[in-house]
Amino acid sequence: MQLTDSIGRNINYLRLSVTDRCNMRCFYCMPKEGVVSKGHDAILSYEELLLIAETSVGIGIEKIRITGGEPLVRVGLVGFLEKLSKIPGLRHLALTTNGLLLAEMAADLRRAGVQRLNVSLDSLDPLIFSDITRGGDLKKVLAGLDAAEQAGFPPPKINVVIMRGINDDEILAFAEMTLTRGSSVRFIEYMPVVKDEGWQRYCISGDEILQRIVSTYSLEQIDKGPYAGPSRDFRIPGASGSIGIITAVSGHFCSECNRIRVTSTGQAKGCLFSDEKTDLVPCLRPPDRERLAEVLRRIVSGKPERHGISCDSYKHQNFTMAQVGG
Ligand code: SAM
Repeated sequence: MQLTDSIGRNINYLRLSVTDRCNMRCFYCMPKEGVVSKGHDAILSYEELLLIAETSVGIGIEKIRITGGEPLVRVGLVGFLEKLSKIPGLRHLALTTNGLLLAEMAADLRRAGVQRLNVSLDSLDPLIFSDITRGGDLKKVLAGLDAAEQAGFPPPKINVVIMRGINDDEILAFAEMTLTRGSSVRFIEYMPVVKDEGWQRYCISGDEILQRIVSTYSLEQIDKGPYAGPSRDFRIPGASGSIGIITAVSGHFCSECNRIRVTSTGQAKGCLFSDEKTDLVPCLRPPDRERLAEVLRRIVSGKPERHGISCDSYKHQNFTMAQVGG
């Protein structure tokens, strides 16, 4: 069964956040003081999250990515993933992590049925990494990448947010990981999430990122898979990993957007950058599958055609990426 929105986009991908807590404080994602974490009652239980996942798959979602905050900090995650992976009709179960706890959890995640990991990693220099993440330990993340491969995962996809003057001198080093480690690296344009009047200074467009790579390596464009969503994908000839460019700000990838999002408090969003959200809690407490399916279908059919951010204008929305899950 195909799930299509009002302009014919095939919506097959749910990003499901399991927590708003994070063990890093990336400066572009969260304010220094962090965000006030929601109380336990506000955060959906695993039973409620499972109901959302099952119902979504029931109406046509085929891929679920678990996100956060940092999903690996939530107690009991592995048992929840095991249940998710058994949902009939779910074709792809993935998880995105900052990698800090990955070395100790990779084998359990694999056994639980997670098929693919994305690791967010913005610098290969320990000091810059620590500055960006406000104290993160690069060694642990690199150990996590190794542990994931030892556990049998395909090389994790690396998500790197490129910011001018911060880590843009590492574009080639990241591109080379597709040759040396077989990693697939996705370069993500910096998006204005945390309130910062001068945010444009960090913006570096996907086209400029590509130009910097092709100044050293030739690139061939490659086809992407059915769940890949809005990235343009390339390969350095001979590399086993691919290079993806996600132009959330400079490009209009909305026409290819295939996803909906649900936060850990049960707020469903058709567009990351829209203030519009729908509270699923009334369909969960008490649980009502039919009503939930109807509300999820409505979110899909009402999915905005496009977001309104560009490097020239943007009104900051009332959320942090850690609350929505990226
Ligand atoms: N903790 C997990 C992780 O690190 O992957 C999941 C949550 S994190 C909010 C999801 C993704 O959002 C990360 O790849 C992060 O880099 C990205 N992100 C957060 N703030 C961003 C921003 N201002 N611009 C672009 N990407 C951002």
